[in-house]
Amino acid sequence: MTTENEKPLNFVEKIIEEDLASNKVSKIHTRFPPEPNGYLHIGHAKSICLNFGLAKRYGGECNLRFDDTNPEKEDVEYVESIKNDVKWLGFEWAGEIHFTSDYFQQLYDWAIYLIKQNKAYVCDLTQEEMREYRGNLKEAGKDSPHKNRSIEENLALFEKMRDGEFADGSCALRVKIDMAHPNMQMRDPVIYRIKNITHHQTGDKWHIYPSYDYAHGQSDAIEGITHSVCTLEFVEHRPLYDWFLENLPVPATPHQYEFSRLNVNYSVTSKRKLKQLVDTNVVDGWDDPRMPTISGMRRRGFTAKSIRDFIDSTGVTKVDGVVDVSQLEFVVREDLNTHSPRAMCVLKPLKITLTNYPEDKVEEMTAPNHPQNETMGSRKLPFTQTLYIDEADFREEANKKYKRLVIGKRVRLRNAYIIEADEAIKDDAGNIIEVKARIIENTVGNNPEDGIKAKGVIHWVSADKNVDCEVRIYDRLFNDIAPDAGGKDFMESINPESLSVLQGCKGEISLATPNTDIPYQFEREGYFFKDEKSDDLVFNRTISLRDTWAK
Ligand code: ATP
Ligand code: MG
Repeated sequence: MTTENEKPLNFVEKIIEEDLASNKVSKIHTRFPPEPNGYLHIGHAKSICLNFGLAKRYGGECNLRFDDTNPEKEDVEYVESIKNDVKWLGFEWAGEIHFTSDYFQQLYDWAIYLIKQNKAYVCDLTQEEMREYRGNLKEAGKDSPHKNRSIEENLALFEKMRDGEFADGSCALRVKIDMAHPNMQMRDPVIYRIKNITHHQTGDKWHIYPSYDYAHGQSDAIEGITHSVCTLEFVEHRPLYDWFLENLPVPATPHQYEFSRLNVNYSVTSKRKLKQLVDTNVVDGWDDPRMPTISGMRRRGFTAKSIRDFIDSTGVTKVDGVVDVSQLEFVVREDLNTHSPRAMCVLKPLKITLTNYPEDKVEEMTAPNHPQNETMGSRKLPFTQTLYIDEADFREEANKKYKRLVIGKRVRLRNAYIIEADEAIKDDAGNIIEVKARIIENTVGNNPEDGIKAKGVIHWVSADKNVDCEVRIYDRLFNDIAPDAGGKDFMESINPESLSVLQGCKGEISLATPNTDIPYQFEREGYFFKDEKSDDLVFNRTISLRDTWAK
């Protein structure tokens, strides 16, 4: 089988093709298993694209399963945001949404089964004591003094744990494997903890909660997952994953495969760290456009397609690495350059008065919505005696490299006339507050008859007919290439200039009812997306036209 895009198969695809060819499985079933303890970030996008992508490609199915075994950190707000993000990225989960908590009864019954098989016991050691008994990589651990409780006693104690008769942490259920096992994960791991806490899905029904390791493989088995794909930190957990499947009467035998996490430089990808940014108000919520969250990137104007393309470009391997954020920015620019409608918006307005243009005249200029794509149509721009151009596009004097408006020189106003500047008007402090200029007749779509050409092209809006807006310019949130590497405190490398707000920007009138599905390219300024959270007209800068970080 060859791939649609002729790329070599990654190692998971190879495994799947072999499993299908040998009839080990007839149809693949994957799952994406987020814990609802935060919003999804770019790293999760990789797992989503991989799991849902494999199912799509091989005619299988992918479940969305909330791994909700830690109720104290979880919340339905996160459940909702995750559903939203998966859909927005363009994927559909099979059937209903699943929750590990749907299986709490079955998991409990299987724990009873393990106790009855003399393979699990209630242990009263404190967490601290358990750690001591566990030993370390060089030294074997030793058995808990409670390992030899009778089956009856274990059953009775476990029932009391379930019924809320014990305080948090007073005891736990562990499986009997081997305290001298070279893999620390196999040294009698805890599978149930007491937590007298309300759960967002099951309310107050349970006082005990299963561990991730105990719940995950069994949930995979219940759902008929064939390929359980997770990140490399679970390699050492795989023997335990398999141990449960071998020792329980599960309905199926899934297999776990691990790939390397996606890390992006100038960024942090850990829900815990992202939550810290939210909780300390460094950013304005999980969906702040500077956040590497899916919701933040969406609000900023990154398209789902560009995120998928970026993920695709990073490959699926078993080697940890860090991807350059400019690789993400590159695909975003490519996508927007192709698909964004063009518009004009003056970020720092400077008034131009055209002394040879009648005060009450309005001409309609025609502007294409995309220079290379006629099917995107065109729009009308009112042209009037007073206009705004950007402050940076006028100088009283300048050298030849400056291809904008200069006294005595000409510049073309995009889609309109060529003008020539005559005089700069200043306030008492010497600031230029207005420029007097003239249009050159018959230059809309034509070169001047006198042969004196314009030096460059600048954007403009009518000073009479425009919309006032706010523009938020974002830059990278961290100015350290690896904000949390080597135990560094990422809070210390927050870029103080990651947000600047410009008010009183002047946009062309079509922006009064802005496009909300894709950002605009504001001519010569970059890509800008209507902020979904603001009632007023606010545009978030998605990205600049060029990479300004590249040296
Ligand atoms: P975090 O450290 O941000 O909390 P997590 O792994 O604890 O991440 P989960 O909700 O457990 O978050 O993750 C759901 C799935 O997404 C898991 O299968 C996990 O392996 C995968 N995942 C999480 N982070 C990344 C990443 N950076 N790259 C690839 N996959 C990831
Ligand atoms: Mg996790």
